Amino acid sequence: MKLDTVIFGGGVAGLWLLDVLSRRGQHVVLLEAHELGSGQTIASQGILHGGLKYTLQGILTRSASQIREMPNVWRKALAGSPGLPSLKKTVVRSEFCHLWHTQSLVSRAGMLGARVGLSVTPEKLSPQERPECLANVPGGVAKLGEQVLSPFSLITDLFEQYRDRVLKFDLNSLEFDLDSPGEVRSIRLSDEQSGGQLVLKPHHVVLTAGAGNAELRARAGLSTAAMQRRPLHMVLARGDLPELNGHCVDGSRTRVTITSDVTSHGQHIWQIGGQVAEDGVAMEPHDLIAHVQKEVAAVLPGVSLDRTEWATYRIDRAEGAVSGGTRPENVQLLFAGNVTTGWPTKLVLAPVLAEELSQAIRSQEPEFRFDPLPLAHWKRPVVAQPLWETITDWIGYPASAPVRHVA
Ligand SMILES: Cc1cc2nc3c(=O)[nH]c(=O)nc-3n(C[C@H](O)[C@H](O)[C@H](O)COP(=O)(O)OP(=O)(O)OC[C@H]3O[C@@H](n4cnc5c(N)ncnc54)[C@H](O)[C@@H]3O)c2cc1C
Repeated sequence: MKLDTVIFGGGVAGLWLLDVLSRRGQHVVLLEAHELGSGQTIASQGILHGGLKYTLQGILTRSASQIREMPNVWRKALAGSPGLPSLKKTVVRSEFCHLWHTQSLVSRAGMLGARVGLSVTPEKLSPQERPECLANVPGGVAKLGEQVLSPFSLITDLFEQYRDRVLKFDLNSLEFDLDSPGEVRSIRLSDEQSGGQLVLKPHHVVLTAGAGNAELRARAGLSTAAMQRRPLHMVLARGDLPELNGHCVDGSRTRVTITSDVTSHGQHIWQIGGQVAEDGVAMEPHDLIAHVQKEVAAVLPGVSLDRTEWATYRIDRAEGAVSGGTRPENVQLLFAGNVTTGWPTKLVLAPVLAEELSQAIRSQEPEFRFDPLPLAHWKRPVVAQPLWETITDWIGYPASAPVRHVA
């Protein structure tokens, strides 16, 4: 089958790109080796950052120009505006984040945000305007127009629109026919169960498989040193918890970032990251949970953690390698032959990655409409479940309570 582009990996980066290329008339197929979004997207907190967090950390430099536009781009996509992926079925968990501090944050954050021209800057809340769970915070509290979405619903929304060209494949069956390193002539796939075979002949191959990009690059004869991983150890809490989305920022550090959702059984969930998830990399789950419970008690005075259960998960951020292994400033793209490798660095930057990629791999206007009919009988992937649906080891509060195994 002749194609303009084959995309490997159906996280936010691959699916957003699939949408952009399909709308521009390209003949494009996305190949998923596991579950859509498995890896970073499903594990992420879904905050549509506008750059303030990086301003506070003093690292919002070149990347400001792109990230500061992102909240508006996503807002338009979520509203179904033309010219962008239509995300009308994506669930927005919150229209804004809160930002709070144990001392005086708001003036500093506002000043920094204005200085680099952020389009989304914090709006100071009076004591009466604070949500109940932030009522006893001693420092300032602000509202920031950064939406928070459900990554599961985002992936589902995009997949449902392009089911006809998103295929599941077995990595063991994958073969690249190479003309030279980075020059893929054809891609061969076979399905052991059905005995089906597929030969795809694309002009371009795009790797947006997150941490899976390293292996795919190796198979295409390209260097794997181009990727870096930065580990995180995240915390989940469920039970009698108030809805909260936002960051407690102390100095230049995001001490905790909390986002909220509801499980399929109707329990309230907190997903907790920020500095605690960086510090937690060196900790065992029990120790991290105890540490986070202390941090939450310190940054959210008066919020009760009674009747809650806790769990952790480890996840690596996969990014294009930068010297020193620090956070890249922007999306990362590598071009070699007809293979392009991309890492968005942040979920919110997926539109930037897709735009830069689609400009780089512009194809001639196809002479005929893409017919995905020959793919109709091939397997489709499923969407990865949110982590709180699959984790079975939960620890009661306080952390010394026995571990509960939930089916
Ligand atoms: C804990 C955490 C919280 C985060 N929170 C935020 C946030 O609030 N806001 C924000 O903007 N960013 C956030 N990020 C960053 C963001 O999640 C990532 O930058 C983004 O999701 C990366 O998307 P991706 O599509 O490149 O990769 P992934 O989401 O990792 O997707 C890779 C896809 O490729 C598939 N795959 C893997 N190997 C192969 C293979 N060999 N062949 C084919 N397919 C393969 C996987 O199954 C998956 O579907 C967070 C990251 C983490 C880890």
